[in-house]
Amino acid sequence: MTDYFEVHERDSAARVGELRLADTVTTPALVDDVDTDTPGDCRHVLDDAGSHWPTEQADPEGNESLLTVLPHRGLPAGTPDEVADAFAVDYPDVDFPSAAVVSPDTATDHGSDAYVLAGAPGYVGHASAFVDAVTTVREATPADTALYLPGVATPRNVATLVYAGVDLVDPDRAVIRGTEGRYLTTDEAYFLEDLDELPCSCPACQQPREAFDREDCVAHNVNALAAELRRVRRRIRDGRLRDYVEGQARQDNWLTATFRQLDQQYSYLEERTPLIRRADLSAASDDSLRRVEIQRFAERVTDRYVPRFDDRPLVLVPCSARKPYSDSQSHKQYHDAIKWRAHVVSMTSPIGVVPQELELTYPAQHYDSVVTGNWTATEIEFVSRVLERYLEDTDYPEIIAHVPGEGYREICERVADSLGREFTYTVTDHPTTADSLGNLAAELEGWDRYPKREREHNTIRAVADYQFGEGAGDELFDDLSTQGRYPQLRADDADGEQLAALAQQYGVLSLTTAGARRWVESDVPTKTVEIEPFVPHGSVLAPGITDASDDIRVGDDVVIRGDAAFGVGRAQMSGPEMQSSTRGIAVQMRHTEEQ
Ligand SMILES: [Zn+2]
Repeated sequence: MTDYFEVHERDSAARVGELRLADTVTTPALVDDVDTDTPGDCRHVLDDAGSHWPTEQADPEGNESLLTVLPHRGLPAGTPDEVADAFAVDYPDVDFPSAAVVSPDTATDHGSDAYVLAGAPGYVGHASAFVDAVTTVREATPADTALYLPGVATPRNVATLVYAGVDLVDPDRAVIRGTEGRYLTTDEAYFLEDLDELPCSCPACQQPREAFDREDCVAHNVNALAAELRRVRRRIRDGRLRDYVEGQARQDNWLTATFRQLDQQYSYLEERTPLIRRADLSAASDDSLRRVEIQRFAERVTDRYVPRFDDRPLVLVPCSARKPYSDSQSHKQYHDAIKWRAHVVSMTSPIGVVPQELELTYPAQHYDSVVTGNWTATEIEFVSRVLERYLEDTDYPEIIAHVPGEGYREICERVADSLGREFTYTVTDHPTTADSLGNLAAELEGWDRYPKREREHNTIRAVADYQFGEGAGDELFDDLSTQGRYPQLRADDADGEQLAALAQQYGVLSLTTAGARRWVESDVPTKTVEIEPFVPHGSVLAPGITDASDDIRVGDDVVIRGDAAFGVGRAQMSGPEMQSSTRGIAVQMRHTEEQ
């Protein structure tokens, strides 16, 4: 239960939140326990009630303007459990803003608003220990509490710390490094004496180089840390911290290792990554292939999606820079040759494969990649694996690879070999030459075009499988009639009652209450939020929730059920976050019915 911390924006494990003291602090924030004129926007927010070690401390009085760190007893890492238990601190139940000091072993819900990772500086330089400590403490403490990492932050590492799930940092390390004569930037820790000019324009650096001393260096370091936190907060609000960290973590080997180690904690990141985002995803390196959004799309296309057109030939085509693909010049040319006689699947790095029905679905039309024409070995490996898994359970009578040389051809040959299937190659030089397009059209000679209705129905069903789970397309939309013009499709039942609409921007379905009832009645596991007996208007707040499905992610369509209401809305928190939070908007309602 927290009264003093609330999360407002989420970008994977990173959050922008609000520490609700007498003066509100926006997190991730730079905080301190001294009331001095520390430069930058470092706030005097902390009051450390001290350690129980020298003498047993009385319970602090606390107040609304500071976050009081409750009396604690630090133990070195590796202390045997029985010793740790003997010295464990019972944190008092207090009614002022408080933080409890925890280790990965002692982290649990102590009723505090924030948690302090004990011995945090010891993790610097140790990627897997750091990732274990941060993810363990985050998972063991309620989602609507802040995580404070003392003594660690520098301008270079703070973006990665926040990306891992840290909300509060202090200037201690930046200050110490400054007194040692190290000038910190987001990419380096320079020896001050090596700098013949100052690569910064903060107030402390506005003076002749000769006059700049270690005291100024301290001021600069803290300014640089504060500035980097401002950038990080902006990135979180834009949903683009990951793009930044992929580049920023490279500035230091332990950060690169930390970032990659964190990518191995897939379930930790997946639970915290939204289903859809406003921001485009920028894929600049092989690291992008490990992003949750990319892995999730590949997983859903290969596990949930059912190829409904595999009674006719498959045409594999290269992706286009323009999205959705069907709007591009090249795909219009392929279409003129194919004329709805085959199923079209685009091959792309970093997404893998994109069936035509899912070309709108996030992130298929929301990514931007560096196009060099050369594929890296990792990209070839990734796309091959996804294509192979995609094809494993399909019955296409023919597979036509209308792809250029370079990586595409290599991937196709590799998969054809591995599956023991024959691919027909129709490109002679480039996919859009008259010869190549002629070959493609000739290969489809004799096949009928499928009707528009079939196309539209299969699109709705494919998106339903992707979004709600295996079998959803057939179970929720068995008697389907589509209205409107692609991509603005409406899904009605046979009697004309609306079940859902395709949201063109993200390529997901927005259910009506009739659609939601079908979901509840189907065998497809329903993402449900159980609420107290009230009728929600606009939104459902976390305290009104009695239970929520674990697999709900931000952006999911969810069913809301309570004794007084039934409805459907879009999740603003993950299911586990709804269960453990006591503050904040959990669901934005779309339709509510009293009952
Ligand atoms: Zn400066």
